Amino acid sequence: MARQRMQQCLSCKAFSLKTTCPACGEVAQAAAPLKWSPEDHRAALRRKMNRVEEPGWASTLPTLPTLDEMMSGDGEEE
Ligand SMILES: [Zn+2]
Repeated sequence: MARQRMQQCLSCKAFSLKTTCPACGEVAQAAAPLKWSPEDHRAALRRKMNRVEEPGWASTLPTLPTLDEMMSGDGEEE
């Protein structure tokens, strides 16, 4: 039984779920999983993509109605 399902051929590098390569018939072994880290290494990129550091960004966030609007009940009812 393979240690994990995704296997990679040792000679042609093809990925498969079997331990023999469907492309060339050579031995395939467990492919290394993607590295994962609890730290968000792409946070700076994502902030740049969403333009979080530009001045007008905060005004684009959704807001709740004021307390008076909530108490007067003009909000959408279900
Ligand atoms: Zn192969």
